[in-house]
Amino acid sequence: MRRYRLMRGLRYSRLGERRLFYEREFSWRPVARWFGRERDLDNTSFAVVIGRHSHVFAKKFAGSEKGALVIDDYSSLAEVKKKFAFFMPEGVYYDRNYYLDRAGCEKCTVNGKMRHLESCDNWLGQELAFDLDPENVECPAHGGLEEKMREHQTMGFCKWEFEEVEKQAGELWKLLSQRFRRVRVTYSGRGFHLHVFDYGVRRWGRSERKRLAKEYEDDYGIDDWITSGEMRLMRLPYSLHGMVSRIAVPLDQQELAGFNPLTDKTCIPRFLHQSEKKK
Ligand SMILES: [Zn+2]
Ligand SMILES: [Zn+2]
Repeated sequence: MRRYRLMRGLRYSRLGERRLFYEREFSWRPVARWFGRERDLDNTSFAVVIGRHSHVFAKKFAGSEKGALVIDDYSSLAEVKKKFAFFMPEGVYYDRNYYLDRAGCEKCTVNGKMRHLESCDNWLGQELAFDLDPENVECPAHGGLEEKMREHQTMGFCKWEFEEVEKQAGELWKLLSQRFRRVRVTYSGRGFHLHVFDYGVRRWGRSERKRLAKEYEDDYGIDDWITSGEMRLMRLPYSLHGMVSRIAVPLDQQELAGFNPLTDKTCIPRFLHQSEKKK
């Protein structure tokens, strides 16, 4: 089993730590505050990935650890939170689509992929987003994506790559802010996400999104699968990234410049505070 080399100071979370996080630390309150009126959380579909990259998962979930398990059949967010604790996932996601009925697009999904970003009466649009990851950055020591694939280190990253991607996120934020009115950024655990909440882009189809991604993909390490809308899942803000043991936290523009996941308390889960004290 291959382990990814991570920036020094970061490590995988253990199963018990993941469970503890969702039982004791995770709360919907800041999530709801962050989305505000942009999203009705009660009508949002969620998903968990149990252990795709970390290969850390409970034995009872063997066989389902790699895929995304969709959680769209629930009666309350409290129940969803309980499911997070039950699965002890490596990652928790929300579906960027806006639906009339969160479970109403089942028929539109073929082989786990949603057919439309186009016409379906149940589909009200999708949040536009950009995903900046360190593997897409050309590192003087570790090379670009090709080298990392050869070394089976596509999910690994070093400090240099992280800092580079942080710089890119700041620049891209500035550019997008000239174009859109409501651009937000979150630290994603390995990199950064930019969310565009402008109402006017929700109904954009795939071709418009692809065109936009093309404008930026040469200069920024963005994942155009996310921007084009093909991949609708996005890490849920305030959830735990189990590969690095950090909380995905929203940042404002000042916080982004110089943000350090090793020292910034807002992203460090409680289970690490405690183990630091014991040392
Ligand atoms: Zn649909
Ligand atoms: Zn590197």
